[in-house]
Amino acid sequence: MTPARTRIAPSPTGYVHIGTLRTALYNYFLAKQTGGKYIIRIEDTDRERLVEGSVENLLETMKFLGLEHDEGPVIDKDGVIEEIGEYGPYTQSARLHIYADYVNQLISQGNAYHCFCSKERLTTMREEQQATKQSPKYDRTCLRLSENEVQAKLSTGENSVVRLKIPEGETIFEDAVRGLIKINNSEVDDQVILKADGFPTYHLAVVVDDHLMKITHILRGEEWISSTPKHVLLYKMFGWEAPVFAHLPLLLNPDKSKLSKRQGDVAVEDYLKRGYLPKALINFVSLLGFNPKGDQELYEIEEFTELFDLSKVNKSGAVLNMEKLDWMNNHYLKALSRDELKEVARPFVQANVDNELVLNAIMIERERVSRLDELQEKIGYYLEEPAYDGAILIWKKADAGDAKAQLEGMLKLLQGVEDDALSSIEQIETLIKNYIEANGLSNGNVLWPLRTALSGREKSSSPFELIWALGKTQSLNRIEKGISLL
Ligand code: GLU
Repeated sequence: MTPARTRIAPSPTGYVHIGTLRTALYNYFLAKQTGGKYIIRIEDTDRERLVEGSVENLLETMKFLGLEHDEGPVIDKDGVIEEIGEYGPYTQSARLHIYADYVNQLISQGNAYHCFCSKERLTTMREEQQATKQSPKYDRTCLRLSENEVQAKLSTGENSVVRLKIPEGETIFEDAVRGLIKINNSEVDDQVILKADGFPTYHLAVVVDDHLMKITHILRGEEWISSTPKHVLLYKMFGWEAPVFAHLPLLLNPDKSKLSKRQGDVAVEDYLKRGYLPKALINFVSLLGFNPKGDQELYEIEEFTELFDLSKVNKSGAVLNMEKLDWMNNHYLKALSRDELKEVARPFVQANVDNELVLNAIMIERERVSRLDELQEKIGYYLEEPAYDGAILIWKKADAGDAKAQLEGMLKLLQGVEDDALSSIEQIETLIKNYIEANGLSNGNVLWPLRTALSGREKSSSPFELIWALGKTQSLNRIEKGISLL
């Protein structure tokens, strides 16, 4: 396979959208699978939408996810943005001189023209078109200006933009996901390619950059498919070979509406802040539009890379099922080693994760949470001697006397064993269950008071887990306290 050069071309308008992550992943898979390069280019030509700090945020988020790019802006150790790769600059605002040459080329070829129409005139034109039910398109008033008139206006410094002169005919291109796409050029507007502020519009800049950066495949969201005919026309006008286009399916809410625009639902940073692990997020987002093996749900990034296949990307929209994400995150949380868990949990709990009891509690509770931000609340009763009403110690089929007797039995049993005998949950369970059997007792009579004494709560993890997490001394203290309440 020829090495692919792929890219994402985000605009720095704030947070990283979950759709941008999906686009990034598919581009990453294709590049890595073919031994090619995956590039980040910053498309900052729309100056009104820029949000300070977005580029740093994007780069940090991608790095945190482990999705490193081969070319483009990177943040160095001191937090300063620099660039790697030989096709830079990779930020469009630093490439204005490049676009200017190509705009001039199009004008001299007769493929583009200056337009001096004021905003007011264009608004009136659009209103008239709407009233008469015509499709909203520039009416080419300025195309009728003579060369001398154009030069005269330019020399007096009159405000102008440059528009593409869309030729007659049809534009046809092959989309790797959606197949053959055909559009009558009469439906395409004379797109502005250079704005009055000297910045190119997206359409010109994207084509020039993808060509100069030798991009072989453009994988991007479906919302860009309607712009593609303009791009295909530009490739033709320049006499360049167009890359492969692949438009990825829309992302949908569970009710099949277009994905919610609320930032909390779509910002990758927010998912990470709530304690979804990079692995889970990558697994989940990669499956939005493509599943290499049909019904398998869990994949490592290396497997996606190996099995990625553009021809298997779905055409129909991909629904985000948050329950699945929760399930995946729980799966990946359970797979972490003690040390790994310690590090990922650190920012999410106020207690010190280097403390053995804290980490023990986290080890137990990670089995039952979907996200790391649920841990703090779950580990409270491990860390603090619980205050509770002694009535909860009494099992529904027993009385206070029995509860007390059973707790005393447990106290003796645990006092009599070496610390070593309590070093795994399974060992503790065997020890206690053997005791119950040997003494002809029932689980309920023993385990209920034991568990409630250890946790101080009617609902908690099992007594075996609690003894393991709390350790011998703390467990004995809590049992003694239970006895004193009966
Ligand atoms: N700048 C566009 C964006 O924000 C890039 C679209 C494309 O990939 O061509 O998504």
